[in-house]
Amino acid sequence: MFDFISTVINEFLSCFVPEKVYYDVVGECKKCGKCCNYMYSVDTYTEKEFKIMQFLFPKYRRFYIKGRDEFGNFVFACKLVTEDGLCSDYEHRLRMCKIYPMKRLPYKAKLHDGCGYKVVGKNFKDYLKTKNPD
Ligand code: SF4
Ligand code: SF4
Repeated sequence: MFDFISTVINEFLSCFVPEKVYYDVVGECKKCGKCCNYMYSVDTYTEKEFKIMQFLFPKYRRFYIKGRDEFGNFVFACKLVTEDGLCSDYEHRLRMCKIYPMKRLPYKAKLHDGCGYKVVGKNFKDYLKTKNPD
């Protein structure tokens, strides 16, 4: 009897499980350089924190604080981006540069205006279509 009640409760609760959605990033880079000139850090809130990060990880010394956005978040830029929007040290660019933008995300990211990539949300039905196009 307990198993039956448990099954009924789980069946009821399953109605409230949100559908899983993931986001594909599709397109191609237009080499505009915006992502090297305007970037965010999810966990750097003060100049002191930024300086500590640069001290601990010298690879971040290529970045500087460009200003703040309308919400008060830091906007960073890289000293190595050229006026044409290209990387002047492409061979030695950081891993974060190589993997940007991630091709699949668990959340709806906002890309720079005019970026050659776009974020496309996909639910389970869309996923099945990619597996069984007919
Ligand atoms: S903002 Fe988009 S299009 Fe521009 S350089 Fe970065 S990835 Fe490429
Ligand atoms: S290292 Fe190169 S690719 Fe990375 S942010 Fe700087 S300019 Fe852009």
